[in-house]
Amino acid sequence: MSAPVLPPRGVSVRVPAKVNLELRVGPRRADGFHSLSTVYHAVDLTDSVLAEPADEWGITVLGPYADRVPTDESNLAMRAARMVAEIGGVDEPVHLTIDKAIPVAGGMAGGSADAAAALVACDALWQTELSRTQLDEAAAELGSDVPFLLTGGTALGSGRGEQVVPVLTQGSFHWVFALHHDGLSTAAVYAECDRLRADDDIPEPVPSQELMTALRAGDVDKLSLALMNDLEPAACSLNPRLQQTMAAGLAHGALATTVSGSGPTVAFLARDKAGALDLMVALSADNIADEVVHARGPAAGAHLLSDITVR
Ligand code: ATP
Repeated sequence: MSAPVLPPRGVSVRVPAKVNLELRVGPRRADGFHSLSTVYHAVDLTDSVLAEPADEWGITVLGPYADRVPTDESNLAMRAARMVAEIGGVDEPVHLTIDKAIPVAGGMAGGSADAAAALVACDALWQTELSRTQLDEAAAELGSDVPFLLTGGTALGSGRGEQVVPVLTQGSFHWVFALHHDGLSTAAVYAECDRLRADDDIPEPVPSQELMTALRAGDVDKLSLALMNDLEPAACSLNPRLQQTMAAGLAHGALATTVSGSGPTVAFLARDKAGALDLMVALSADNIADEVVHARGPAAGAHLLSDITVR
């Protein structure tokens, strides 16, 4: 007798973290958000989200950061799953299992990444076949970074970051990330940025041509000159440890450094993989950050790991 065919159980989606190669922060808008011009870059430091049919809605978080991630309705992945159910008219509970490697409150959009993964996973699980526009609109409602995490690669973000257009790039780049576990709240960093710039006249932000040229040519030296982040002074003001970390990486041979998003993760650009691994060893020996990891970009946006896992 042949083995019975078991029903499909779950869908697993992998999703990258992001670093902002450029983050230009414009004036604060009437809705409280700042207008941004940013170049997002996805890196292969990833979370995965498994969506399985269940008797009731629930969420489990695995990995070293699990105790810092909510497991109730406030989890962004859960909000994303609820949104797919609502748009698709689904009345079936799901259990989400997040395997988390992206640092929490690290400026690498970990929560947004999980939300993007949950959108894709639940859409596949329930076969709701949402259009790309429906997914993008749901993503934008969940958070400014979520649409980019659906897209991945390297992309220009405008508006409050939710309007995303892919950028032409060549080759790939090696990064070392120095993680600090005492996270920074994104809202607090923007507030500090406003405080530091209170007397300045802030123009509407526009992307730099130097960065676009560097990416189009896949030129790591040009890229090293083009990294910039308007939130860096604010993040360093709230956590002065970041400046020491940045100086240490540069002293150990990093081509360039920038605070990732709102911090406190510090990103270092290396010439190549060997350079990144050397830098990782040197920074780890310094004991200056809580964790040091290597990642490569650009990486793919939220994508199915397997069609459907059959148990
Ligand atoms: P960003 O780079 O988008 O500003 P971040 O990487 O600094 O974000 P997140 O890791 O996304 O920060 O988490 C910010 C807060 O969101 C956490 O402190 C946590 O309370 C909450 N949160 C909700 N859902 C999640 C999730 N799935 N993963 C991590 N944090 C989550």
